Amino acid sequence: MKTHAQVVVIGGGVVGCSVLYHLSKAGWTDVVLVERKELTAGSTWHAAGGIHTLNGDPNVAALQKYTVELYQKIEETSGHQCGIHLPGELMLADTEERLDWLRMAHARGRYLGMDTEIITPAEAREIMPFIDESHFVGAMYDRHGGQVDPSGVTHAYAKAAQMAGAEVYLDTWAREITRHPDGSWDVVCNRGVINCEHMVNAGGLWAREVGHMIGLELPVLAMEHMYLLTDAIPEVQQFEQESEKGIPMIIDFGAEIYSREEQGGLLLGTYEKACVPWSPVETPWDFGLQLLDPDIDRISPSLEMAFTHFPIFNDARIRQVVNGPFTFAPDGNPLVGPVRGQPGQWVACGVMAGLAQGGGVGLALANWMIEGDPGFDIWGMDVARFGDWATPVYTNSKVQENYSRRFQIAFPNEELPAARPLQTSPIYGRLAQANAVWGVAFGLEYALWFQREGDPPVEEVTFKRSNAFDRVAAEVATVRESVGLMETTGFAKFEFTGSGARSWLSNLLANRIPGNGCLALAPMLNDNGKLIGDFTVATLGAERFMLVGSGVAERYYERYFDAHLPADGSVSLRTLGPELCGLSIAGPESRKTLQALTRADLDADAFPFLHIREMNVGMIPALVGRISYTGDLGYEFWVSASYQAALFDLLREAGEEHGMGLFGLRALDSLRLEKSFGAWASEYRPVYDPYEAGLGRFVKLDKDGFVGRDTSERVRAAGPARRLMTFVVEAEDADVLGDEPIWHRGEVIGWVTSGGYAHWSRASVALGYVPIERADADDGFEIEVLGVRRAAHPQREPLFDPTGARMRG
Ligand SMILES: Cc1cc2nc3c(=O)[nH]c(=O)nc-3n(C[C@H](O)[C@H](O)[C@H](O)COP(=O)(O)OP(=O)(O)OC[C@H]3O[C@@H](n4cnc5c(N)ncnc54)[C@H](O)[C@@H]3O)c2cc1C
Repeated sequence: MKTHAQVVVIGGGVVGCSVLYHLSKAGWTDVVLVERKELTAGSTWHAAGGIHTLNGDPNVAALQKYTVELYQKIEETSGHQCGIHLPGELMLADTEERLDWLRMAHARGRYLGMDTEIITPAEAREIMPFIDESHFVGAMYDRHGGQVDPSGVTHAYAKAAQMAGAEVYLDTWAREITRHPDGSWDVVCNRGVINCEHMVNAGGLWAREVGHMIGLELPVLAMEHMYLLTDAIPEVQQFEQESEKGIPMIIDFGAEIYSREEQGGLLLGTYEKACVPWSPVETPWDFGLQLLDPDIDRISPSLEMAFTHFPIFNDARIRQVVNGPFTFAPDGNPLVGPVRGQPGQWVACGVMAGLAQGGGVGLALANWMIEGDPGFDIWGMDVARFGDWATPVYTNSKVQENYSRRFQIAFPNEELPAARPLQTSPIYGRLAQANAVWGVAFGLEYALWFQREGDPPVEEVTFKRSNAFDRVAAEVATVRESVGLMETTGFAKFEFTGSGARSWLSNLLANRIPGNGCLALAPMLNDNGKLIGDFTVATLGAERFMLVGSGVAERYYERYFDAHLPADGSVSLRTLGPELCGLSIAGPESRKTLQALTRADLDADAFPFLHIREMNVGMIPALVGRISYTGDLGYEFWVSASYQAALFDLLREAGEEHGMGLFGLRALDSLRLEKSFGAWASEYRPVYDPYEAGLGRFVKLDKDGFVGRDTSERVRAAGPARRLMTFVVEAEDADVLGDEPIWHRGEVIGWVTSGGYAHWSRASVALGYVPIERADADDGFEIEVLGVRRAAHPQREPLFDPTGARMRG
């Protein structure tokens, strides 16, 4: 056994072996994998082996597509059979809403090059003759789905990696992980110690325990999962022999089951409502190639429905019931990436569909380790999407919610109730009293919109316009006509102090750091010139700065800052979190509202746009910035949590005579759309550069060096390959939700990043990227909304206040 390696991967399940394969394939061959028992001795060995490309996040779906296509390759390279059988996959909808969801998935798949088709129940029956089509209203057919042999795949990855120089140590249990003063890691195993620069936690069922070895609490939980196998069924055998592709993988959303052919019979798996976590506190180390006791009663409601939808099961004999555990993250997507504050530590765990996703996870992680960038848009899998609030009890609650809803429709405007409310700001009670409808982001509750007094504060879930529509329109009108008040605590806020802070930030951000008392919009780029942050930077003193950015990316930013802070201590970082609370007023009457509360001169000359200052608002010391994401005249207030309620009351009281109303995030979204303002995680993501995103004016190539400068110079000289555009869509009762394909003259050429209804401008708006050679076309665009192609008109300037006079006023 080696005593030193560049990388140690812990865990010989399908995910660890995929990571090992991708690292060695990319040229990192001084890599070893340690496996406690034998390969697949976690959840992998008893997996049903189903593979498919469907995922609610199209970027994760793209990586699943990569995985499906990879198996042929590793089989050829390793000479090890993967048991690939791709008869296609049939997703059956029993309601119109589910069919809408499939239409949306089908449309989203278009620009990812997915080969799916929406078909009728009768067509579905031709592909799978054992369904009772009367229960269904339609289906989506994916030619690429099917199944593989989980053990074959895992061994094929390992063998291919070994052929490239990687080593695999079986019966090697990593029991302790310690950090050397030189920054490297010692993985202490029962058979010796391996020192390494990088360590990957692919511990699967034990990922949580491996995390504990470095003091990390990963939000993963194992759930029991059952599938049953029937004896051979003559009709199934006959169809397998006679049909061209055989029986497809089936997902029946109504019955919440999946099914496929297995040894001439059928396999039937369920995601039951009455789900049960497995080993919620600690996974036993002596668990290995074992199964759990089956509990048919728990899954009987799903089975009953399945037997009605697929009558063939009624006469089949059940040969075996398999019950095995596998892990989930709170939102059901993998946890991948570097660990904050522990250089060289990486995770690849919480992979609930290891056969469908393992290849993509391995590829992204290997890219990230070698190139410093995953090479894809993997925000949906980044471990940084969870903060410290994702405790074990939170995870337990969320994972059960996710598991029990696995085949349920996920509506775009749906807010799931488990583990809530968790974090609330001091004005939570006041907003609740104002009949707020709540959302949650990064563990913190925020008001989405405000329901009419006396009506229940509940939003109907739908793919179309909901009962929020009129209320949001009213909130928008209040902002544009008088003055609105909203909470902004949910933003990520960071304070940088120290003698080196200014020059360090200047190197980190592409824009110039503003003068004292000023604000600037500042993109943060990586070495490849891609957008990894989008901040407002405030200079609060010679050695004091504040950065405000997207709340959901707080941990993502922290991880990046940590990794780049100078070692000499000249810059200190403090995450201000929900302890620094925010309020914002916006609208033509906002100056008058604030002026009544402060002696400070608020005239446009005295306190201009993009300025920030300490100010007493009534008795309350606040940091006040002249900026608003609404695109209107507005002010942002930052106060410590103990003052927020008093400030809220004060602003409301002062605003009353000006017609002040509360507004929530839905209204803010509507307001920013008519200004064509992009948003982090939608328009601004690490796969776009600032020039294509329309942020080129914030990139100052003439200032001293900054991260991404050289690439940006080249990109600007060459010109962007695509452009972020705003469209007005001829929509009816449904607006775009994001990820819809953009068509031009009959061809899919781009995708929507976000959109919705701009109430003030009375327009359905979509933002999205299109290739530069089409970006100047005036007509011929269409955007597919719920399966219908709608004419879309390019908007060359913001719908509202194109000159920006209102916000600068
Ligand atoms: C009943 C059932 C059906 C399923 N069906 C499907 C399906 O159809 N399609 C699909 O894609 N997925 C399916 N899955 C899920 C799939 O099994 C998992 O996604 C996948 O196995 C996860 O692989 P992994 O490598 O992350 O974890 P694991 O398979 O759990 O592997 C982790 C490995 O790490 C080793 N290990 C842990 N800690 C240490 C340590 N300290 N030192 C050394 N070694 C260590 C363990 O021994 C284990 O071998 C199913 C799961 C179940 C239970």
